[in-house]
Order: sequence, then C-alpha cells, then structure tokens
Amino acid sequence: MFGVIIMQIHLKDMALKGLSVHLTEDMDAGPVFQGRKDILHAGPVHVDLHAKHEAGIVEVNGTLDVELELSCSRCLSNFEQTIELPFQEVFTQTPVGDDDESEIHVLTEDKVDLRPYIEENLVMGLPYIPLCGEACKGLCPVCGGNRNVRDCGCKQEKIDPRLAGLADFFKE
Ligand SMILES: [Zn+2]
Ligand SMILES: [Zn+2]
Repeated sequence: MFGVIIMQIHLKDMALKGLSVHLTEDMDAGPVFQGRKDILHAGPVHVDLHAKHEAGIVEVNGTLDVELELSCSRCLSNFEQTIELPFQEVFTQTPVGDDDESEIHVLTEDKVDLRPYIEENLVMGLPYIPLCGEACKGLCPVCGGNRNVRDCGCKQEKIDPRLAGLADFFKE
C-alpha cells in the first residue's frame, strides 16, 4: 500500500555516512493525472532513484515508471502504455553563485522531499498527445469509423483531415 510516503533525503546524514542512498517506492501520484481526460487510469509510479552526496552536492538519478491506460488522440480507442522517464535532479545547501549552475536546486533545509520533483518530472514527461501507435489511422472524417479496425472506403484519401470541413463546404 502507498499511504504517506515521504521521499526525503537528509543531506547531513548522507554526508556523514558517505554513502549513496537507494530509494525505491511505489508512489500514488493520482493528482498528477487529474485534469488529463486522455489518461483513463494510472497505476502506482515505480520510483527507483539513487542519491549520492559529494562535496556538498546531492545528485539524484534514476527512473520513474508508470503503467497508464490512455485514450488515443486520433482514434479514441483505449490502450495501455508503460512510460519510463529518466530522473535527474541536483541539490545543494550552499549556492555556488554561478549563473550556469541554475540547474541546481538550492535548499534552505538539511533535507529535501523529492515528491514535488517527481511529480513535476511526471507532468513534463507524460505523452502530450497519446497515440495507440505511430501508424494509427484515426477516425474517418466522413463516417466517423475507426480506420484501424475497418477500411470504410469513404472518398477522402486526398483530403487533408484539416481541410475536410472546407471540402464539405464546396460540395454544396
Ligand atoms: Zn489510435
Ligand atoms: Zn468513412
């Protein structure tokens, strides 16, 4: 079960132990998927991260993966897809004072909760326009049939779907 999982890293602890920390959790990231009507179902997010502390800088690397049930944006059929996203974030408590280092998150505390970073990575990494397959033929603009399932034979091969409405206009 998920419950409250606090994906926290304590910097001082890590520095003292001089170890890299392995974090594996199944995280319920439900709120991340809300508002996406094309995401019908999302499993737990499998978080697999390694954090290592070196010279005041904590680097967290790993992967996030999640099984999604999506609605294809072309043919509207449901399909399942496992998304695997790389994760990399760098933290420090001592700002380096270099503009080039803006990729580094400066912390005010001795600890960091990774959850918001995980959620942000998920939001950014989710498929923007889900497709059941690159070759999905979509719905027929004439009869509305799913052209992956059946070739309806409607006469519209030469017409760009974006111009289909215009073609109807000239048919009159
Ligand atoms: Zn499709
Ligand atoms: Zn058709």
